[in-house]
Amino acid sequence: METIKITRESGIPLMGAIQFGIIDRGTNLLQIRATTICNLNCPFCSTDAGPNSKTHKTTYSVDIDYLIDWVKEVVKYKGGKNIEANLDSVGEPFVHKDFIELAKKVADIEGIYKISMQSNGTLVKKEQIDELDSIGIPIRINLSIHSTDKEEAKELAGNENYEITQIVELAKYINSKKNIELLLAPVWLPGLNDKGIGNIVELAKELKCLIGIQKYEIYKYSRKMKKAKNITFWKFYKKLEEWEKEHNTQLKLDPKIFKFEKMTRFPKTMDVNQKVYAEIKAPGWIKGQMIGVANQRCVTINKCNKPIGSTAKVKIVQNKNNIYLANQL
Ligand code: SF4
Repeated sequence: METIKITRESGIPLMGAIQFGIIDRGTNLLQIRATTICNLNCPFCSTDAGPNSKTHKTTYSVDIDYLIDWVKEVVKYKGGKNIEANLDSVGEPFVHKDFIELAKKVADIEGIYKISMQSNGTLVKKEQIDELDSIGIPIRINLSIHSTDKEEAKELAGNENYEITQIVELAKYINSKKNIELLLAPVWLPGLNDKGIGNIVELAKELKCLIGIQKYEIYKYSRKMKKAKNITFWKFYKKLEEWEKEHNTQLKLDPKIFKFEKMTRFPKTMDVNQKVYAEIKAPGWIKGQMIGVANQRCVTINKCNKPIGSTAKVKIVQNKNNIYLANQL
């Protein structure tokens, strides 16, 4: 799989694409995405990430200093205070070799009061947890863990080398740190890992850490597991209530944890239906797409046959949250 390095010199802006850079959804939470690469192949992955991906033939890795410059600009525009930096990814953030450096530099930006991040835990070293713990601002790690059963955990990671004991040990280590809050984040695949979820609930009770059970969702490009049922939200919350009674613990997360305040958005530069010329810069994330640049934003162009370095006339068809999708004209 080809990895596109995104540097200042590439001329690719860090806003406009969903898969890398910054996503500002108009609140005090900023999503910051440094890589799309993942080392696992979870068979239910909502982004179809990992080495066996059928949808993606391209991955992206962003230069950290370039990313930091963009974060500073966006934070300043949004008012320069009370911002949570969410270091997330459509893959595994810790794959990026400079991930800890990114966290440290983000923590130094004035106006960022907290960092949250997600990880599958497989590449995380204890020394890195020590470094994060001493970063100076509160951190929350959302750790993906879908079963405590050895074989089921391997199956759900899509990787024979996945060792759940290593992840549980890491969870305990993270949880022992003063400045890091641990949140176990299992995906419930109804009919498949019901027992595994029960065990993770017990683990969260033992560690006295947060747990946020996630609903299995099916999207156009996500990986689907035939064995897992696709249920309604009503049924999902009903099951959470059942588990709450069975395990005598709260499973519906306190909404305050994920409730963010509205905040000025970084400005959009193109309207829907607007026709612009985009300079073609890189292959897109999904087959048939290309990434173009217009008006200081990335634009993902569907069914684009133009070579890199050329210019394409495109019509913007989506611009929600400053993420641009266009059709070639
Ligand atoms: S760890 Fe996350 S991003 Fe990677 S394959 Fe699994 S679900 Fe997808």
